[in-house]
Amino acid sequence: MKKIGLMTSGGDAPGMNAAIRAVVRTCAYHGISAVGIEMGYQGLIDNQMNEMGARDVKNIIHRGGTVLRTARCKAFYAAEGRAKAYENFKSNGLDALIVIGGDGTFTGAMLFSEEFNVPVVGLPGTIDNDIFGTDTTIGYDTALNTVVDAIDKIRDTATSHNRLFFVEVMGRDSGFLALNGGIGAGAQDILIPEEHLDLNRLFASLDRGYQAGKSSSIIVVSEGEEGGVFEIVKRVREHYPDYDMRVTVLGHLQRGGAPSCSDRVLASRLGVAAVEGLMAGQSGVMAGLRGGQVVFTPLSDAVKKNHEIDAELIRISDILAV
Ligand code: ATP
Repeated sequence: MKKIGLMTSGGDAPGMNAAIRAVVRTCAYHGISAVGIEMGYQGLIDNQMNEMGARDVKNIIHRGGTVLRTARCKAFYAAEGRAKAYENFKSNGLDALIVIGGDGTFTGAMLFSEEFNVPVVGLPGTIDNDIFGTDTTIGYDTALNTVVDAIDKIRDTATSHNRLFFVEVMGRDSGFLALNGGIGAGAQDILIPEEHLDLNRLFASLDRGYQAGKSSSIIVVSEGEEGGVFEIVKRVREHYPDYDMRVTVLGHLQRGGAPSCSDRVLASRLGVAAVEGLMAGQSGVMAGLRGGQVVFTPLSDAVKKNHEIDAELIRISDILAV
């Protein structure tokens, strides 16, 4: 193993820079050349890549986003696009690829690895935490803290005005951010796609809160919830025409900001594991952290098997909203 290419792909996540730094420095430590590929798979197709040494990744561990930038690359879905990417992979003398991204990125990596017999290792970089084979993904902890900070601020104004606030949180089809963010911020109720709740349950929860003397409440809604937050609020308004309701969509601010220490440590551990895994012959796998230990999971499992929500957390949220 003499030369390893690395890229960030799909949606950006805080901690991707810490992962890039860890991969580049682990390569330097072991005498391997690291090549940074820009804009995900697009950079591989367009031959946009440069060698990166240990000093090239100074002062990035604390920065959000990704210095390699990222992209959603349509051309890589087609066999011709991947063939072009392989041409550049070979002409640049690369021996292996490390991809930092989510399930789409891993699906592309699997195809590329199988079609051209290229060793690949994936690192889970997404705020959604929707990847199987790791307790948390790089970026999730930071996004969770951002969500809680934002809801804390909303709580101040909700309490001052006796208002019912609906806060939409990212996560696509996965309710991790909403559920854990909602518990951390003390929400009255949390709507996540995994639960398929009908609104009668929310109405019952709001009635209970009202009877218990609550004058304001925060409801956290995952973006993957059917109908979206505005449709839900429309239906709640029909049921409680006198309530003063407001909606806040947290949106892309959840993706930004300096990575938390936890995400930096996770990214550092997994970056080292990816390079050393490739050196030891690993391929077609994702490096993750489970129960405090680095583990390698086949990419095919990482993308297909659902990372399940802990039902106990749903129970806890219900109890604490009493
Ligand atoms: P996030 O979870 O943050 O959205 P992601 O990695 O899932 O990240 P995607 O946009 O789904 O983001 O995938 C990133 C890129 O991976 C795509 O733009 C495409 O280039 C490649 N890719 C995804 N799915 C496939 C596929 N089925 N075949 C080939 N390439 C793919």
